[in-house]
Amino acid sequence: MSESLVKDNAVVSMSYVLTVDGEVIDSSENIEGEAIAFIQGLGQIIPGLEKVLYGMKIGDSKQVKVKAGEAYGEIDQEAFVWVPREDFPETIPLEVGTVFEMREENGDTHLARITELGEEQVHVDLNHPLAGKELSFDVKVVEIRDATSEELEHGHVHDHGAHGH
Ligand code: ZN
Repeated sequence: MSESLVKDNAVVSMSYVLTVDGEVIDSSENIEGEAIAFIQGLGQIIPGLEKVLYGMKIGDSKQVKVKAGEAYGEIDQEAFVWVPREDFPETIPLEVGTVFEMREENGDTHLARITELGEEQVHVDLNHPLAGKELSFDVKVVEIRDATSEELEHGHVHDHGAHGH
């Protein structure tokens, strides 16, 4: 029996814990529990993490540090903008540190954070909340299998081999 390794076009199930600045901010429930599944090599997870998974086997675990440039990017100074106070709905408290969802004209939403309050305008940071941060992952490979041709065609994992959509 040949050993399964993480390689391009393999469906990898991985459990993980993400720590930033010493704080756990995200996880697949538990390093021994739930796992996320993705197709390796398609950029479905952040590049700096995908890179180090190659060659790992089922049951392998690793601690990985990913620099901002290979995660959510460096902080973009042009992503700080002034927004008129009257553009904010009353449901958003105008306080430094408030994080809210901003909707663009094309319907996309992303998180924004208030950084400064002016007389008439509010200074807002549109960078991803994890921009500029180094990410620390604890990862464990739970399962590896070859992607089906249908999964490769669709570019995503089908649960239990069934087509759910
Ligand atoms: Zn599909």
